[in-house]
Amino acid sequence: MKVRRFRSFRFKMVRYMLLSILATFITEGIIFLGIFLYETENIAGEYRKVWGASGQSSMPLRMFSFSQSTVLDFFVILLFTILLFTMYFVLISHNFVIYVREIITGIDRMKGGNLLEEIPVKGDDEFAEISVAINEMRKELHDTMESQRIAEKTKDELITNVAHDLRTPLTSILGYLDLLTEGDFLTEDQRQKYLGIVSAKARQLETLIRDLFDYTRYDKDKVKIKKEILDLNLFMPQIIDEFYPSLMENQLECITDFYEGALNIEGNGELLARAIGNLMSNAIKYGAEGKVIEVKTGRMDKMAYVAVINYGRVIPPENLEKIFEKFYRVESSRSLKTGGTGLGLAIAKNIVNLHDGHIWASSDESGTRFQIELPEVRPRK
Ligand code: ATP
Ligand code: MG
Repeated sequence: MKVRRFRSFRFKMVRYMLLSILATFITEGIIFLGIFLYETENIAGEYRKVWGASGQSSMPLRMFSFSQSTVLDFFVILLFTILLFTMYFVLISHNFVIYVREIITGIDRMKGGNLLEEIPVKGDDEFAEISVAINEMRKELHDTMESQRIAEKTKDELITNVAHDLRTPLTSILGYLDLLTEGDFLTEDQRQKYLGIVSAKARQLETLIRDLFDYTRYDKDKVKIKKEILDLNLFMPQIIDEFYPSLMENQLECITDFYEGALNIEGNGELLARAIGNLMSNAIKYGAEGKVIEVKTGRMDKMAYVAVINYGRVIPPENLEKIFEKFYRVESSRSLKTGGTGLGLAIAKNIVNLHDGHIWASSDESGTRFQIELPEVRPRK
């Protein structure tokens, strides 16, 4: 905020003083004129009594005087002037003083921890500038405290969730290991079955730990990633191929509908494969009843997109935003079959953010669509 010279605090004070002096003089002028007229009228009355109507026609002006003592008159008038000036100055600067008090109250409020209310900005002098600066400071303080609070809450949640997700498979691993070491009575079949469960649970743990690492590793503030030009139309078939066994296992057909022509984006192939792979594995896991999965690529408003569509289970609208949060799952049970940790989409979102893109989902009876949009680029020569 730029303070204009004539709006400055100093100029304001000079203006208040000049106005007070003017008001003082006008008041004194009116009072003295009143006294003058009153006394003149009295003397004229006396004069007429002495001289009568037939006497001298006009009264000499020099007959009027204020008082006998000029020094006394001067001091009385000076005192009166000072009093009047002070009174006018207090009156004229009243609003300004109230404003300064408002600023002080605002600062006290902030000192007391209330960072929600702003100090009003009035006028455009230095005090208005101070208010603007305090308001900006308040906002920054409020935002910092808010993000600290959220970070603290997130950390607590993360620890609780991680502890829960680590403990569940670990408990069952330990249980089965006890059975395997102590149970001489186990048949070879049972032994193999329990070993299989232990192995599956251990793998689940490994995936969780890898996901946790990835989630924190792909935080936008922390990583600088290596990027290269990729054509989504060449990139996507490779990803789909990797899911071929899984598609087969779930008796799902993958229908592709690719944009005709190159769809170049700048990105890290490994990370994007991970993000799109997470969408694919979700579509297979949660859309197994739907018989088909569709994968589309296209372009829209300088963005290239990949969409993975599955059918069957609908995600309730109130969950559509939340599913991108870490550890959020629509169904709370974490069964081995569909049970994940709820990190897949959070990781995908982090990766997409690293590429300055968007990820969103829509879901209704006509299908569940997850779409990743990335800025399209022209290949470098
Ligand atoms: P993870 O991917 O970490 O193994 P997850 O699959 O449960 O676990 P996300 O991939 O983040 O975690 O998905 C979050 C939730 O969103 C899932 O639990 C599921 O409820 C819902 N969801 C995700 N993709 C789909 C989909 N294609 N169809 C229906 N629901 C889905
Ligand atoms: Mg998933």
